[in-house]
Amino acid sequence: MTTKKDRYTGYFSKLETMTGAERRRYLNKKLKQIVVYAYEKAPAFKKKMDRAKMKPPDVQAVKDLERLGITEKTDLIGMQQKSPPFGGFNGVPPESLSRIFVSPGPIYEPGEMHYEDTRWAQGLFAGGFRPGDICQVTFSYHLVPFAFMLDESLRLLGCRTIPAGVGNTELQIQTLKDLKVTGFLGTPSFLHALLQRSKEMGLNPKKDLPLKTAFVAAEMLPESLRDSIESEWGILIRQSYGTADIGCLGFECVEKNGMHFPDDCIVEIVDPQTGKQLGPGEVGEVVGTCFNKVYPLIRFGSGDLSYFSDEPCPCGRTSPRLIRIVGRVDQVTKVKGMFIHPGQVDAVAAKFSELCGCQVVVTREKHQDQMVFRAELAGPCRDPKKLTEDLKKTIQDILRLRGEVQLLNKGSLPKGAKKIEDKRVWE
Ligand SMILES: [Zn+2]
Repeated sequence: MTTKKDRYTGYFSKLETMTGAERRRYLNKKLKQIVVYAYEKAPAFKKKMDRAKMKPPDVQAVKDLERLGITEKTDLIGMQQKSPPFGGFNGVPPESLSRIFVSPGPIYEPGEMHYEDTRWAQGLFAGGFRPGDICQVTFSYHLVPFAFMLDESLRLLGCRTIPAGVGNTELQIQTLKDLKVTGFLGTPSFLHALLQRSKEMGLNPKKDLPLKTAFVAAEMLPESLRDSIESEWGILIRQSYGTADIGCLGFECVEKNGMHFPDDCIVEIVDPQTGKQLGPGEVGEVVGTCFNKVYPLIRFGSGDLSYFSDEPCPCGRTSPRLIRIVGRVDQVTKVKGMFIHPGQVDAVAAKFSELCGCQVVVTREKHQDQMVFRAELAGPCRDPKKLTEDLKKTIQDILRLRGEVQLLNKGSLPKGAKKIEDKRVWE
């Protein structure tokens, strides 16, 4: 029988239930250590500190990171070309590495000497993986690091792995069945494809496949897809978030109400223009700092936008949670001093079943930004006036901006139209 303790408490429970003050102290201590280390060993980090006119003693707490610039993934490509192979961000000599990964870019990533990063393992445990599980890893083992990170983390947990990689749907189904696989790791769309194909092959949901947990990442997980797979196949699906460079930055627990920050890293939500840290509920870039001595990335920008909550989670973990990823930093548009992004525009439309499409158009009149929300109707509208008023209110709630509403007939918005069309001309 699963006790509450087993179900809810992670392997790293001492850290997972720290109070806010304890967590701040813990992270500040780890931050100070990695800053001293990286300053000495990673020339690119020393340069970053020099540019900010900082020395290691200037970093005493997470708040001090605000003075330090954000390294974006796109910066890495140029820096690696100038200073191969890792742009000077590696904290150990390249000769000592066990693996080198190649991500699109190309960006080269140092693999660890001994895998010690516990963050994915922490997320896997929270998502229901247990020692003894037999797990099929269907992320790519070619060139990129993610499958290896998960593979090593499963071993830390005491699970067995099947390094299945991508594709070979029917062989994968046979393996799931023959080896009585209990855990799946892969994209939501591949999980869906595997299960659909299993049904076509005559397998019976819940009976023929002993799968009980799925750990998905690298793609949006639509709630409708999660609900249908969980109820039809009896599989607990939990998602996680991170990047190939910096590793895990968030994972869902059983409660499914956002992605907990893992313990061994610092996650900041940052205003992309000023670099200042933002508070709960405010949308900004997810910026990570990890304590990995092999590749000590400090203030690394994910390019993704999100917001967090520090309300207590019923699972007992006390870490804050990313509520959801709402878009990419390069898609944001600043209107009347507020950032808006396509995810928010969709979130407005999602509240109205009458709509089948939407777009925001930003213009500038008399040196003032103007915003029009173009709403495409799925069918005839009974009360356009009321719908317009309701939309205006929702726009104000979600975008925190006043905007005009334009109702359009179905098919008016061209396919592939930009979610936010910026038509401002700057003279
Ligand atoms: Zn939780």
